[in-house]
Amino acid sequence: MYRMTLSNIPEERFDKLRNEISDYENIKDRIFTGIEDYEKILYQKKKILKYLNATEEDYNNYHWQIKNRFTSAEGISKIIDLSETDLKYINEVASKYRFAVSPYYLSLIDPQNSDCAIKKQAIPAVEELNDLGELDPMDEKGTAIHDIITRRYPDRLIIKITNVCGMFCRFCQRRRHIGETDKVVPRAKIQTAIEYVRENREIRDVLITGGDAFLVSDEMIEWMLKELRAIPHVEIIRFGTRTPVTLPQRITKNLVDILKKYHPIFVNTHFNHPREITPESKIACEMLADAGIPLGNQMVLLNGVNNDKYVVRKLNLKLLTIRVKPYYIFHPKTVKGTSHFWVKIEEGLEIMESLRGRTSGLAIPTYIINGPKGLGKTPIMPNYLLCLGKDKASFRNWQGEYFEVENFGADA
Ligand SMILES: *Cc1c(COP(=O)(O)O)cnc(C)c1O
Repeated sequence: MYRMTLSNIPEERFDKLRNEISDYENIKDRIFTGIEDYEKILYQKKKILKYLNATEEDYNNYHWQIKNRFTSAEGISKIIDLSETDLKYINEVASKYRFAVSPYYLSLIDPQNSDCAIKKQAIPAVEELNDLGELDPMDEKGTAIHDIITRRYPDRLIIKITNVCGMFCRFCQRRRHIGETDKVVPRAKIQTAIEYVRENREIRDVLITGGDAFLVSDEMIEWMLKELRAIPHVEIIRFGTRTPVTLPQRITKNLVDILKKYHPIFVNTHFNHPREITPESKIACEMLADAGIPLGNQMVLLNGVNNDKYVVRKLNLKLLTIRVKPYYIFHPKTVKGTSHFWVKIEEGLEIMESLRGRTSGLAIPTYIINGPKGLGKTPIMPNYLLCLGKDKASFRNWQGEYFEVENFGADA
């Protein structure tokens, strides 16, 4: 039999390579994306439509999704089974930290899995009553100008334009911000933020966030984009939004038609688990990508949700298939009421170590820990450089093999 040889690398080398990912190959089909488990999701969706007496058309309308967010244990218990403890504590926790989940995101909860990663992100848990941590560990208040701007870096800043979200994530870093009711920031206040950008010529990157930056009207988004684009030193405009994940119905043709008039526009979204990759979220991401918008993902590392190297690998690989580039993995912040989500730094490092070499560089984000009190995003990396000498440097590669290189070049 004729066998193709790719090169003169011996067959054992390929065996060794296969071996490097055989653990992942064996497990990956048991970690479902929302596309792979879509029948179950559709079943839940039908239950929700029936309970809310709604049509398919309602469901596809994001205004309907927002208006019909579930906000009580009683409502939720009509769709998934809740334990006695859940029932007892959901409303109590919700009176302390706001709770709302879109019908769409609720449909992603696997009712047969008490450990469901979607449920943990969406439904209040008794552990939130634990008071460890702080309400504002990032000291956004201390680095805020006009209270809706946070400026922590020389050439870019964030503007928070609303506190509305499709769902209030249980691990939210801005819990203090979410308040009792939905509040869109008045236009006059946003105007003063835009004036600040106009007056500070070193600001070349404006990041619009919230709440959720896409949970304001199309008209408001267009107004802001027009204002920002009239400032010559603003090179790029970014949106931070979880709508592709929690409310993909928000990504409408009208919205993408507006966005693409003001390029270069970037969107960073926030998938935390493969189950969030559904036919709906895929369409939302593809619409944005087709409009020429580069998409990045900012995952938060969360105990019980995604602190697992295989879950993260599957998530990142599947994100690439819907044209989203994994951008950051954030180490969880010490926000009050989220201590059950905290993980050790070693876990994040192990995940990073397991990605390098074993999969495309495209699927490897930067792992970031935020310095307390606004000290900023700080990368954490497995160490590959073992020794840096004047003339020689030594390393280990992704498989743990040692090598040295000459450290040539003129002295710096
Ligand atoms: C995260 C963040 C940014 C953006 O940081 P990048 O590393 O450029 O993505 C800008 N300003 C503030 C205050 C931030 O927290």
